[in-house]
Amino acid sequence: MKKKIPAAKGTRDILPREVVNWQNVESVSRRVFELYGYREIRTPVFEATELFEKGTGETSDIVIKEMYTFKDKAGRSLTLRPEYTPSVVRSIIENRLYLKPDPLRFYYIGPMFRYDKPQKGRYRQFHQADIEVFGEEDPAVDAEIVEMADYLLKKLQVSDTETLVNSVGCQKCRPSYIKDLRSKAVEASRVLCADCQRKITMNPLRIFDCKVETCLEVAKTFPKITDYLCQECENHFSRFCEYLDFFSIKYKVEPRLVRGIDYYTKTTFEVVSPRLGAQDALLGGGRYDDMMKEFGGPDLCGIGFAMGIERLISVVPFVEEKGKFLYLAYLGEESRRAGMEFVQLLRRAGVECLIEYKERNLKNQMSRANKLGAAWVLIIGDEEVKRGKYQLKNMETGVQEEKSREDILKIVRESS
Ligand code: AMP
Repeated sequence: MKKKIPAAKGTRDILPREVVNWQNVESVSRRVFELYGYREIRTPVFEATELFEKGTGETSDIVIKEMYTFKDKAGRSLTLRPEYTPSVVRSIIENRLYLKPDPLRFYYIGPMFRYDKPQKGRYRQFHQADIEVFGEEDPAVDAEIVEMADYLLKKLQVSDTETLVNSVGCQKCRPSYIKDLRSKAVEASRVLCADCQRKITMNPLRIFDCKVETCLEVAKTFPKITDYLCQECENHFSRFCEYLDFFSIKYKVEPRLVRGIDYYTKTTFEVVSPRLGAQDALLGGGRYDDMMKEFGGPDLCGIGFAMGIERLISVVPFVEEKGKFLYLAYLGEESRRAGMEFVQLLRRAGVECLIEYKERNLKNQMSRANKLGAAWVLIIGDEEVKRGKYQLKNMETGVQEEKSREDILKIVRESS
């Protein structure tokens, strides 16, 4: 027996029967994003490693533990993107998109890569639909993107979700919070896991990302960032909440929602689903007002979210494939050629047709067509070739009739 090579750990195939659901989620997402003025952008799958070290942040779990980093043949350090935002920011600066009159609203659907422990809802190659807006400071836009996410989930018939919101402050107010948080974390350090103990000095905010039960319990006793916001962040947060009310979005303020990425300022939010199990976040996002200037670009604020497609697919009702197709049953080479020629014409006219070239008798061809769910079978034998008229069987009604090519074309095209 030859050795079988399995898919790499944490990756999976999306097979044709599932692809129908993917295409549904992708096309509904595209449609909704475009309704809100977003346009698609596609950036490379790999980037210079420092883009994520600097963008996603050196104290984030993503950068510390989860990046697929490698050296190319010229010795450059490259990383398969673990998230999308830093790539979009780089592209805007590099292509000077901020000088164009077009709104800086972008969306993207594609694969991301994180070397994480694979489990249900967590893969090493997974897919996200991302949106980003730049240059809009007003909290109305924060609420608009939450409302867009809400609308998208409704369009996909996803119910029972919960929207969690928070503010993580800014460079002015966060330092005094971090100071108090750190001293509380030091007091509780004996019960924190080894990872969180390291986070106390590095970035105590990251303790809130930990999923260890004891750390989660202790974190509940830590001070809340919402009690430390400066006037500007406080204002921004309360106006964001007012606009959510304006859109009739139900939400819960969750002061421990800091999200696992270092760049957030002010607003953070997540939509969770109890149907997902332990990895319950369907989508998450927030504001990152300093990133563009940190990367040497203009001082443009930004906000966005990323939605996990695998997780979404697991809660979106299954889409039934309804495509109708015609199956060609032929007897011998001459009728096969006549069939191939006619099928070419039908396909050009927009009718889906299937020809299987393996020789089978008529009975076997009919049972194949039945098993595959063909809407019609076109039967061609020597007699039919001579007469120039073929048999068409409607598989739903079971009626089989001899028809001219023109009639067949008309019948199948009209009900395709
Ligand atoms: P994040 O960039 O970590 O905020 O993730 C945004 C969304 O992507 C999450 O809410 C999940 O739906 C999805 N996601 C993140 N990491 C993974 C993963 N390893 N596997 C599958 N989906 C993921």
